[in-house]
Amino acid sequence: MRVKLPDGVKDQVAHIKGGIHPDYNKNTHNSEPVTMPSPKTVRLPVSMHIGTACEPIVKVRDKVGLGQVIADSTSRISSPIHATVSGTVKSIREGDVTSSGSKVQIIEIESDGEMRPYEGLKVSEIRSKEDFIKAVRDSGVVGLGGAGFPTSAKLDTPPGITIDTLVVNGAECEPYITVDDYAMNNDIEPFFIGLTNTMKWLNIDRAIIGIEDNKVEAMENLLSYIKKDPALDINKNIDVVSFKAQYPQGAEKIIIYQTTGRKVPVGKLPHDVGVLVLNVNTLLEIGIFISTGMPLLTRLITVDGSAVRTPMNVLVPIGTSIAEVLDFVGLRENPSLVIMGGPMMGVAVSSLDKTIIKQNNALLALTQKDYSLADESECIRCAHCIDHCPMHLQPTSIMKALKKDEMDKVMDLQVMACIECGCCDYVCPAKIPLVHYMRSAKTKVRELGGHK
Ligand code: SF4
Ligand code: SF4
Repeated sequence: MRVKLPDGVKDQVAHIKGGIHPDYNKNTHNSEPVTMPSPKTVRLPVSMHIGTACEPIVKVRDKVGLGQVIADSTSRISSPIHATVSGTVKSIREGDVTSSGSKVQIIEIESDGEMRPYEGLKVSEIRSKEDFIKAVRDSGVVGLGGAGFPTSAKLDTPPGITIDTLVVNGAECEPYITVDDYAMNNDIEPFFIGLTNTMKWLNIDRAIIGIEDNKVEAMENLLSYIKKDPALDINKNIDVVSFKAQYPQGAEKIIIYQTTGRKVPVGKLPHDVGVLVLNVNTLLEIGIFISTGMPLLTRLITVDGSAVRTPMNVLVPIGTSIAEVLDFVGLRENPSLVIMGGPMMGVAVSSLDKTIIKQNNALLALTQKDYSLADESECIRCAHCIDHCPMHLQPTSIMKALKKDEMDKVMDLQVMACIECGCCDYVCPAKIPLVHYMRSAKTKVRELGGHK
């Protein structure tokens, strides 16, 4: 049954089949965030984004100010790295602090404890689309819903592409995480500055803020802001659209379909159907940079899981170690698994010595009771994985074809449409790690140069 929605909220225009209803565990909903004290050192990898890694532009023993660019790249698909504390560059060496498995240069800064802003920070003058895209690049903002794709590159669409709709992703369908919900309830002004500037400079007529129907308070706040601000006549083109709370409503292709009715074909991008999708916190950080000149330096992180004493949202300087964050929040017992991100799409961290990076929005410290490591058994052909796949795929058939190395069949079964949401894994009674098979199949198809 649908919840009663505030007047003015529009209903979704299309419905997906499939999806799942995990326990949402939004324990930190409505809790006031806690700011973590500045750490003694931060370790900043020169790549916290999809695309080309940056090159350090500082040297060991250089003094740096808060917000100073310390690594950059000339590549379009990249994002500058900023100092998230003021202090002295202590070391620059290769390593992996992100659990990605690939080593990049890590710039370690010893804090002077002053959090002294860099003198060169200033508010960007924006007079054109190009100025706006440059400002977004200078802000260091990447897809903050977890994707990490440089936002400036996403805004810089190829010639001949027209974007008519900005879809704001406020679904936050992953269990536990509440940082987008917090932003929609509490940081509404900078969020709208980011949103309206994106519409203005990219000449986008319409915005749709897509929210799950378990965030009624956020819908009310957004609507009342839209109604009361006469200065923003663009507001008449901003809709709040609600859809059922169900995982994975926030997946890009799914939110586009449910809010606009448009389908993004396999191998194509949202801009191919005239849509740009940006996450709530991505727009919020763009708004902050445009208003203050301060780039992305901190993340609000949901810290939760049964090993945590009190679940909370914590404002953390990027580059802080996971161990320090967990220490600050407090543990009731040693976690047996720590995940960066949500339980469905997050990544297990191999060591608490890893650091918080730009696209992190949650840290889950779990004990054995939160998850099962049951042994995989034979497929019993129950078809649950097919019934729950939001992309209408047949995960069981893809897995079986992959195991027999029948790659033509794997391609015919449209594996490249898989969004790696993990719904098939979640419902499989035989505990078959289906998403692992989907990833392997996609990698193999790419190696074969196929995109069927
Ligand atoms: S991981 Fe892929 S195959 Fe499995 S449910 Fe999600 S989209 Fe379907
Ligand atoms: S859910 Fe698991 S057991 Fe059921 S058909 Fe799919 S792979 Fe087989």
